[in-house]
Amino acid sequence: MADFPITRTSQPKPKPADDTLAFGKVLTDHMFLMDYTEGEGWHSPRIVPYGPLSLDPATSVLHYGQAIFDGLKAFRGPDGQVRLFRADRHAERLNRSARIMCMPELPVDLIRQSFDALVGLEHDWVPRKAGTSLYLRPTIIATDVYLGVHPAHSYLYFLILSPVGSYYKEGVKPVRILASDSHVRAVKGGTGEAKTAANYAASLAGQQDAARAGYTQVLYLDAVEHKYLDEVGTMNIMLRIGDEVITPPLAGTILDGVTRASAIELMRDWGLKVTERPVSIDEVMAAGRNGTLREMWGTGTAAVVSPVGTLGYKGEDLVINGGETGALTQRLYDTITGIQYGRSNDPHGWTS
Ligand code: PMP
Repeated sequence: MADFPITRTSQPKPKPADDTLAFGKVLTDHMFLMDYTEGEGWHSPRIVPYGPLSLDPATSVLHYGQAIFDGLKAFRGPDGQVRLFRADRHAERLNRSARIMCMPELPVDLIRQSFDALVGLEHDWVPRKAGTSLYLRPTIIATDVYLGVHPAHSYLYFLILSPVGSYYKEGVKPVRILASDSHVRAVKGGTGEAKTAANYAASLAGQQDAARAGYTQVLYLDAVEHKYLDEVGTMNIMLRIGDEVITPPLAGTILDGVTRASAIELMRDWGLKVTERPVSIDEVMAAGRNGTLREMWGTGTAAVVSPVGTLGYKGEDLVINGGETGALTQRLYDTITGIQYGRSNDPHGWTS
């Protein structure tokens, strides 16, 4: 592993008890920083005490949102070993986001080294209780001090870490999802495939409306015809109609989820028919009414899988699988978490 210069904090924070952890509220003692300057490329990687960044008010990211990030987790297994789940794939996705947002890519092994160096230093921050993990948030922001709209010439990469609690405190629990016919998230040719700040800003109003109507998250439909399923707020969507598992294709408007890819690979290993194809909300509602919609679930790093117990659309509430977690959803959850925590073997080599 590369040796990065480290400035250690003189004021380590007390670590919270594992059973008090939520998501993203507590940050660890150190962060990894690296600068990009045109002509010079990426330079000055370093680990420093966690703390505020100082930015000129005219810094371009604050105005035009040229910002990308990713999110992945490190898990401490019952054997005490800490494993990252599909770190290279997350690093590659950070670079794909960079390309879409006209930002400079980073060598994947340098991203990986930043993960390993910081998680190694903050080893004691990886919680121990079942279901907990250490969340990694690599981010790149444009740092030109200039009010013109243009791809910046200078950037900052930073990596911060947050110990997070178990998403499910009492076993996998189905959620209520609202398919929105009024809010849209992304269009073809836009930035939907990038993990960029603007996509999350664009999702807030829809999320707020759904919460007011008593739903947990929004299921976005395509922005042109309001007909085909895209994805849920921070999850990809999958469903099982009869013997076919269906998930919307990667056609530019949705994120290429790492959990999505992992679930597809596992289900194909298990001999299931998995189809990546456009699926319309009308097809889903019809399958729900005629009893062929067996299961529906979201996939994402936060929850791994999140069963959809109720799907709301145009005033109708469809209850799926009696509002219970389906067998396939549960099997995916058990298998993926088993690999993440090193409890089961990892035939695809996803953890390292
Ligand atoms: N879609 C969006 C918009 C997301 O923010 C996320 C969370 N990263 C996902 C899907 C799921 O992706 P992953 O499985 O890689 O976490």
